[in-house]
Amino acid sequence: MGEDVARDPECIFCKILEGDIPAYKLFEDEHTFAFMDINPLNDGHALIIPKDHHPNIFDTPTNVLAPLMETTQRIARAIQNSIAPDGINILQANGHGAAQSVFHVHFHVLPRKNGDDAKLNWGLRPGDMDHISDLAQQIRVAIKD
Ligand code: 5GP
Ligand code: ZN
Repeated sequence: MGEDVARDPECIFCKILEGDIPAYKLFEDEHTFAFMDINPLNDGHALIIPKDHHPNIFDTPTNVLAPLMETTQRIARAIQNSIAPDGINILQANGHGAAQSVFHVHFHVLPRKNGDDAKLNWGLRPGDMDHISDLAQQIRVAIKD
């Protein structure tokens, strides 16, 4: 990691970036990192984060948001082309009232199923890790340059 990268030692996503806790990584580039959510709403639920720690969208500089959105699009396309959900929502939460639980800015790529009746506060239930690992591999091979 670059020496000028801003990290918060208490932040779970910074710990993933540091390699201190494991993640099913999908993609990374200079500014961004994409990985599977371990409490998925549906198959293929992924998260996109900047390598710098910024708590929410208010604090995130536009030169960080631009590559973040580029990677979000890249991952959304790969999920559509591999998992083929009925639809995809892109979601980003700011503050407890918006059900933000990790204060390192992130975009959810939320695959949707017809009739899943998903709520904005969908509740966190641990997924099956072997299944998430299989899905991650399907998505990885569908990522385009
Ligand atoms: P938020 O509620 O802040 O919008 O979303 C945070 C997301 O991070 C949740 O969907 C939650 O499942 C996910 N999450 C929390 N801790 C971990 C973790 O240690 N690893 C992974 N892969 N995802 C996590
Ligand atoms: Zn962080």
